Amino acid sequence: MKPTCEIPCAICGKPSEYFAEPTGPFCSNRCKLIDLGKWLGEEYRVSEPLRPDHFAEFEELGGELDRPE
Ligand SMILES: [Zn+2]
Repeated sequence: MKPTCEIPCAICGKPSEYFAEPTGPFCSNRCKLIDLGKWLGEEYRVSEPLRPDHFAEFEELGGELDRPE
């Protein structure tokens, strides 16, 4: 029985060993970017709420970086 360190993704709450992943502590680059966007949104006090299309260009990169295994 190997030691595990499962935590919920900070964005979508899906539990897994994200600290072992390059995207950790998030389940994917997409959630990582969403979190980054939240921080930037607070810092710069953007009045416009973040929408999924703000990350559309990053999702294209995500397809390349976010390999399943
Ligand atoms: Zn997630």
